[in-house]
Amino acid sequence: MKSLVPSPYGQWEPVIGLEVHAQLHTLTKAFCGCETSFGAPPNTHVCPVCLGLPGALPVLNAEAVALAVSAGLALGCKVHETSVFARKHYFYPDSPKGYQLTQFDRPIATGGGLEVDVGEGARRIGLTRIHMEEDAGKNVHGVGGFSLVDLNRAGTPLIEIVSEPELRSPAEARDYLEKLHELVMFIGVNDGNLEQGSFRCDANVSVRKSGEPFGVRVELKNINSFRFVEDAIDGEIRRQVRMLERGERVRLQTRGYNAEKRESYLLRDKEAEDEYRYFSDPDLPPLVLDAAFIAERAARLPELPVAKRARFQAEFGLSEGALRVLTSHPRIAEFFEQAALVSGRGVRVANIIQTEVLRDTVTAGLEATFPVSPNQVAELVDLVESGAISGKQAKVLYPDLIGKEVSPRALVETLGLKVLDDAETLQNLALEIVRANPRQAEQYRSGKTGILGFFVGQLMKVTGGSADPKLASDLFEQELRK
Ligand code: ADP
Ligand code: MG
Ligand code: ZN
Repeated sequence: MKSLVPSPYGQWEPVIGLEVHAQLHTLTKAFCGCETSFGAPPNTHVCPVCLGLPGALPVLNAEAVALAVSAGLALGCKVHETSVFARKHYFYPDSPKGYQLTQFDRPIATGGGLEVDVGEGARRIGLTRIHMEEDAGKNVHGVGGFSLVDLNRAGTPLIEIVSEPELRSPAEARDYLEKLHELVMFIGVNDGNLEQGSFRCDANVSVRKSGEPFGVRVELKNINSFRFVEDAIDGEIRRQVRMLERGERVRLQTRGYNAEKRESYLLRDKEAEDEYRYFSDPDLPPLVLDAAFIAERAARLPELPVAKRARFQAEFGLSEGALRVLTSHPRIAEFFEQAALVSGRGVRVANIIQTEVLRDTVTAGLEATFPVSPNQVAELVDLVESGAISGKQAKVLYPDLIGKEVSPRALVETLGLKVLDDAETLQNLALEIVRANPRQAEQYRSGKTGILGFFVGQLMKVTGGSADPKLASDLFEQELRK
């Protein structure tokens, strides 16, 4: 369906393709046994292989291969039984070998796609390829007037996921990135840590008039936030449109993005073709996977986020908003599902998780720490649902569960909480409240029946939230009609 909203770029149509670098969630590096853990003192996770010392031989990490295969399968790619590692040559201080090990003309996976949806119906964005490669180290500038190199990161296994140039707006690019991020986290391939650089992307942007061939593209390097990808692409489209409308031409460039100034800056001109002198690595044999291994990885793929949302909706009747929040992290989705299965009341469980539990939930990469357990949430829901305590009382009770293994049912007994549903007591209280608020009573009688909530609220106040709300409003209705 063609959108009826006019494009913000006039007659210019953006063409966008993303190259996403996702770190594979392994304990050790791609070709040596060094740890991949983040934040260690500089150059403590290095060895002759990742330092590029002469004579050191790389050995491919089997876990990295398994994860790359999972990603390929989850994205609907063709996973190839044979792929080849090549040397991509360039000089940069953070790349001690003088080349990067990457897959060039024989990547591990090709094809596949990912659905985006920015409110105009779902659209599938094709993938060109997924290849395995190693990360570079990190240059740290301005340390006592020096630039230093930290090679802890050098040799970390990555996959690069390359999309076809099929994205057509900054919002679509953002949605693609968010969906991909979610997917790789749910299959346990990537820890999703944008701040630590585990998931970052290069955005290729060009513009053209509708129906014309693709324009010259600019590559925006290393963007590690969803908002920045949207802003950076939007800014780049506008920059290109301004140039073209002035009759200038867009130059094939690699640019960086300064999020504070909200503008891109030139890194290098690519008009002269890059010459990486690729050749297949003589130290690494071709990577050969047998079909049984690929099939086993396919069988072990967990449920993907899109399917999970559909199932949560069908099984528990969750709203769009709740679905989005509860599947925002794999551990949160698991927490919800456990509590919902125990209590059988998905919507109530979802409410408590959203209003209470998530406030004190801390996620770090693929892990999450919850203030209470799924069983406690389920039991709390059951107590309210069975009428043992009111919703208001559940809210009061909740903080006492945090960090303790106590069962809500036991706590209700200890605290002597119960719903106040003694009609006579409530009626006396209702009568007092009506008398104390003659103006509101008059309003009710003159037809402003919405004010009933005010009276029930007053009753809740004097009973510490323990009054049976249904009974309370019935009693007020009777009393006010007199
Ligand atoms: P490189 O290796 O130099 O980055 P590729 O041919 O591998 O170049 O393309 C990288 C990315 O650029 C892909 O995601 C592709 O979709 C995108 N791309 C290619 N041509 C264009 C274009 N004219 N406009 C926007 N994106 C493009
Ligand atoms: Mg590129
Ligand atoms: Zn090493």
